[in-house]
Amino acid sequence: MAEPVLTASGLARTYPPARAGGEEVAALAGIDLQIMSGELVSIIGPSGCGKSTLLNLLAGLDEPTAGSVALGSGSPLLGSVAYMPQADLLMPWRTVLDNAAVGPQLRGLSIGEARERARAELLRFGLDGFADAWPSQISGGMRQRTALLRTFLTDCDVMLLDEPFGALDALTRQDMQERLVELWAAEGKSILFVTHDVEEALFLGDRVVRMTPRPGRIADEVAVDLPRPRAAGVTDLEPRFIELKRALEEPLRAEEARTP
Ligand code: ADP
Ligand code: MG
Repeated sequence: MAEPVLTASGLARTYPPARAGGEEVAALAGIDLQIMSGELVSIIGPSGCGKSTLLNLLAGLDEPTAGSVALGSGSPLLGSVAYMPQADLLMPWRTVLDNAAVGPQLRGLSIGEARERARAELLRFGLDGFADAWPSQISGGMRQRTALLRTFLTDCDVMLLDEPFGALDALTRQDMQERLVELWAAEGKSILFVTHDVEEALFLGDRVVRMTPRPGRIADEVAVDLPRPRAAGVTDLEPRFIELKRALEEPLRAEEARTP
């Protein structure tokens, strides 16, 4: 049976006022969330509903105002959870290979060993032949693949991905989604994937958790009972996919209509 790998209980985060006399921002409140071993969970919600705040807390980069986060293994969060932030954040002074090598370097490997680990994965991440390219010389899709490779090479069982494909064009995005699912299936990682795209959330996820803003809360979740492997461009024509999409989009639209 699947074990919980990451558990958030009663999580809240209120940011102090940005200036004297300003107002506090209640970014998250009452978040209970559990990720099971080997699960791929999508989180969806409008901009500003606290998705990035939640990921920062789950990664251990920020402290909750209330509640707690725990790993099933009991290890501290920092060092055990891989995190890919919203922007690709490659280092412009490092080549593709050396950017990917940051992952294993952070685990304490020498640059030589780290490069070896990274080089062995270039083909699988569609970066073959680009080891020595600079981030400025490659496409947006390649930069995201480099950032994804770096995240995988941290060798953490739990991965948090914050809208990693948001800036990509539709075809590149589809390619990245398929790659991610393949890697996930091959490596048995537990992944929390943040997106504001309903189709992406459904294509990837075992479950889709929907958040609402002010303060950010979990409104509901749907189990994605679509068989795998799911073929991009085919799945989204299936009646069940369309049904699930509608169920998720309706409240999102209602939410947007309420936003001033
Ligand atoms: P999302 O990722 O869903 O777009 P965020 O977690 O970035 O949402 O933001 C949630 C809310 O918290 C927003 O209202 C945002 O303006 C606010 N917020 C985010 N980070 C900070 C911060 N460091 N200080 C103050 N307010 C913040
Ligand atoms: Mg965000």
